[in-house]
Amino acid sequence: MPGKPDVGGDAADRSGISANRRTFMGTVGAITGASALGGTALADDGDEKTEVGGEGSRTDGDARNAILVIPDGAAQAHISGARYLKAYREDSEEFPLNVTPGGTTLHVDQAEQIGGMSTYPDNPDRTPITDSAAAGTKTYSGAIGGVGSEDEYTPVKTILEAAHEAGMATGLVTTTRITHATPAAFATHVPDRGVEDEIARQYVDDGNVDVLLGGGKRHFDPEERDDGEDMLARAEEQGYQIAETEAELADADSGKLLGLFGSESDRSAHMSYYVDREYVDDTDEPGLVEMTEKAIDILSDCENGFFLMVESGRVDHQGHANDNAITHEQLECDEVFGTVLDYAEDDATSETFAMQVADHETGGMSLGWDAYDMDWGAIDDIRASLEHLESAIDETGDDRGATVDVVEEHTGFELTEGEIIDITGGDLAKVLNKRTQMGWSSDSHTAEEVPSYASGPNAEFFGRYFDNTEVAVGIAEALGLEFEPGREIDYEFRD
Ligand code: ZN
Ligand code: MG
Ligand code: ZN
Repeated sequence: MPGKPDVGGDAADRSGISANRRTFMGTVGAITGASALGGTALADDGDEKTEVGGEGSRTDGDARNAILVIPDGAAQAHISGARYLKAYREDSEEFPLNVTPGGTTLHVDQAEQIGGMSTYPDNPDRTPITDSAAAGTKTYSGAIGGVGSEDEYTPVKTILEAAHEAGMATGLVTTTRITHATPAAFATHVPDRGVEDEIARQYVDDGNVDVLLGGGKRHFDPEERDDGEDMLARAEEQGYQIAETEAELADADSGKLLGLFGSESDRSAHMSYYVDREYVDDTDEPGLVEMTEKAIDILSDCENGFFLMVESGRVDHQGHANDNAITHEQLECDEVFGTVLDYAEDDATSETFAMQVADHETGGMSLGWDAYDMDWGAIDDIRASLEHLESAIDETGDDRGATVDVVEEHTGFELTEGEIIDITGGDLAKVLNKRTQMGWSSDSHTAEEVPSYASGPNAEFFGRYFDNTEVAVGIAEALGLEFEPGREIDYEFRD
């Protein structure tokens, strides 16, 4: 059709990535292999859709597809917490005796290989604690898709870009802004994660991610971008359909897709927390499971296979906030991994590699505070995020009765006099954590290592303790992609 955009995958002419200036660097990328993955696919139901997938053709590996699920900031306590919450809900009488193999299980428990991963970055000051950007590439804190330093930044190729160049379809799905560090580290290159307008521009102009779903419309909207450029119109010119609601997402059935979702109150930032989407707001945002299903549905049209990264990105934010509702968010992530495993099992025509691993831990979360007990009924009852509760309390303007109503409405707790004093004094988190006995040692990231879960071809590569730089390596091996982590590329970013 006239004006039909070229969606094929020769990244040398489409994304400014040159194939002829490569040196292997001592530093290899972490989760993204920037060392990370890339690709494109084909729609089969009408000529108006832009095909997904790159132009290259790949030599088949053992796996046709790869799906990587990242619960940002989740280590063992987060996984255990999701398991306890699920077990409590399934049988509160039997709890905790049902928290066993053979009792309540998470989907990650079905993984063929369980291992553990390092998280430390390659930062000049030798901190063992990474930020999410550096975690994507094992680089200095704040860097997206490159190594070196902010002054001497060197872009490196990601696993998503390699997949794209091999003709595969690619997708990035998250509950944060799509321009946030984790997804950005798979497909864009900037010395500092803060330049999200530029990250949006790179997604659109490079066009090597076929399906982009998340929040962050403000970085595409000409009214909100600093340069006034209309990335929404430009994305459409590039062949992307644009969806902004759950219904519009449901309608998109093939072709390149840019989904930018948000809550009614703030449509341009992150998507809502699971508990707020589910129990508080009458929202038109899709859930992470739906987004994952749609991405798989579209990307699986590509005959060359696909690479998909799905991030449960706000687990990290609840870790920073020390919010008990993090367990609900982590449980949603586990449902996503179950969806991924179901797809891998149901698609008899091809093999899919599936993995869940976090980028680092956030919050120093612990299951227990200062007593030999936790109240999982209370954790189950907290059905709004701390952020929502705090802003609703703010809106009461120090009205004591209204404050009590807000907390009781969303938790069912009957507050004591002391708790009311603490809450009106601004210490809601402490009150809720005292009730539940959830513990926290930090409001930042920690150096804790993270558990990993892998299934499908080459899963055995991850059945051990491994370095975060090995994620992209193992996925490339599963896909049979030629890929060297840490390969320098020529890439023009705008300052
Ligand atoms: Zn992170
Ligand atoms: Mg993230
Ligand atoms: Zn964080």
